[in-house]
Amino acid sequence: MTAQTAQTAQRVDVLIVGGGFGGMYATYKFREMGLRIQSFEAGGGLGGVWYWNRYPGARVDLPSIDYSFSFSPEIEQEWTWSEQFAAQPELLRYINFVSERLSLDKHYQFNTRIERAEWDEARELWVLRTSQGQVWEAPFCIMATGPLSVPKDPEIPGLSRFKGVMHRAARWPHQEVRFEGLRVGVIGTGSTGIQIVQEVGKTAGELFVFQRTPSFTMPMRNVKLEPAYVAEVKRHYAGIREAARNSAVGGTRPQSTRGFFTCTPAQRRTLLEDAWKNGGLAMLGTFSDLLVNEEANEEVAEFVRSKIDEVVQDPVTADKLKPRGYPIFARRPCLDTSYYETFNQPNVHLVDLYEQPIVEITEKGVRTEKGEVELDMLILATGYDGLTGALTAFDVVGRGGRTVNQKWQNGAYSYLGLMMEGFPNLFMTTGPTGPAALANIVRISENDVDWIAALMVHMQHNGQATAEVMPEAEQAWMAHVGSLAKRSLLLKAKTWYLGANVKDKPLGLTLFTGGFLRYREHCAAATQDGYRKALSFTPA
Ligand code: NAP
Repeated sequence: MTAQTAQTAQRVDVLIVGGGFGGMYATYKFREMGLRIQSFEAGGGLGGVWYWNRYPGARVDLPSIDYSFSFSPEIEQEWTWSEQFAAQPELLRYINFVSERLSLDKHYQFNTRIERAEWDEARELWVLRTSQGQVWEAPFCIMATGPLSVPKDPEIPGLSRFKGVMHRAARWPHQEVRFEGLRVGVIGTGSTGIQIVQEVGKTAGELFVFQRTPSFTMPMRNVKLEPAYVAEVKRHYAGIREAARNSAVGGTRPQSTRGFFTCTPAQRRTLLEDAWKNGGLAMLGTFSDLLVNEEANEEVAEFVRSKIDEVVQDPVTADKLKPRGYPIFARRPCLDTSYYETFNQPNVHLVDLYEQPIVEITEKGVRTEKGEVELDMLILATGYDGLTGALTAFDVVGRGGRTVNQKWQNGAYSYLGLMMEGFPNLFMTTGPTGPAALANIVRISENDVDWIAALMVHMQHNGQATAEVMPEAEQAWMAHVGSLAKRSLLLKAKTWYLGANVKDKPLGLTLFTGGFLRYREHCAAATQDGYRKALSFTPA
């Protein structure tokens, strides 16, 4: 960093990038510790994915009770969820309620991207340049940039030629979008596409669903939360949070230690039927081995395929909607309210891209190998450059001028998803090689911020200026993550978990598959050991 930028820079103790759950909690936590903070968010407000993803039908797929902050007992009592699985507007209201209650947004600079982050070795400071031309510096930097914050357009020629209206799910307009009388196309049938299809199908003149890989989806069976139930939850929040923190998924979803084949075929069928009726991700928790036992997994997959036959009236459409060739739950399982039912409507058409791949987007619509589908509106629900995209989208420059892009050229590499060798005093929340996509992101965010805070306190007590993970500790963590991943069926599907959806991205499962509780235990072990085996420090 030049002397000139150093002169014009503004200085605080901690810089925080991101206004989702992780960034909000970091902002609160470090302020309460008496540190001077400055936070940044590219969006015009707080909420992260819930700020951007305003598409019709956007809804959380974990119970709202679990998908909320646990650090403030007051807020737990003051806020009341209306539905078991809250929709995006309610989630955003909650986020703004928390922000207002704790005066968080005053610490944020909105509509601001960080364009470069660089470690100044001589001065032991992170120096951040914003899209507005400012320079900020601080000894500590928190990248709370989220695993799903960089949306991805499909690699289809002609996208810019389309003369109709084009919407991207993850950049949905703030004003109401209407579909009545319109010919609408949706590309993408992951969790996002499924939520959009079932909602837009209700009012669109005609809806064309461009499906490449079908997803497994199960009934959400969302319900309004009764006052008596909410009161009961509020009385027991402490216990609910404790249970969530001690579970593999960071939530209160029941889990079982029962192996699939320990039950008779009749028992299995009864349990699967019950799970289907209960809704949510009950099925995944009904048996302990669905992500490791391929035979068990296939039986459950076949059960869900049979449900598609029960719902979808046209057998040809039903067959095309059936996912095959990858294990159920290896792609993120979707929860729907009426997805398969939507295909019974005369205005809804499934376009099977295995049968007729998309050739190009034209001025009028989508041309497949079988012809052109004319559209008034095209919606892209084509996913994200997940886990790593946010930190490879701009230059994050560590010790010796090495960037995160260089460090991750063969795939994400980090310690606990929290720190990286070569990047002193730089922290990620819900980073790659942690349990990011596989457990409740709010619980992970809180764990991560608390872990970072404890480390900062330790450094202050011991007169240390910088902390950096030692290469051996990072390698050992990566080896552990890798050996657990080998056993997981998650490897058997082409997904964003593996980086398979982004051209030329290194393939690999860089997620901790050992469950949230084990992850917390690893984090806690490092802290309890005084970081001796994991981190190296320099004196202040
Ligand atoms: P996604 O699961 O990656 O799905 C992207 C979809 O776009 C896939 O169906 C993909 O097909 C399709 N696609 C991409 N490029 C294409 C092309 N060139 N031609 C045709 N189709 C193409 O992304 P997502 O649905 O946005 O979900 C991402 C994650 O966000 C989820 O896994 C979940 O973790 C989270 N999410 C959660 C919720 C919730 O809480 N309810 C809602 C939405 C999202 P292929 O599979 O064949 O590539």
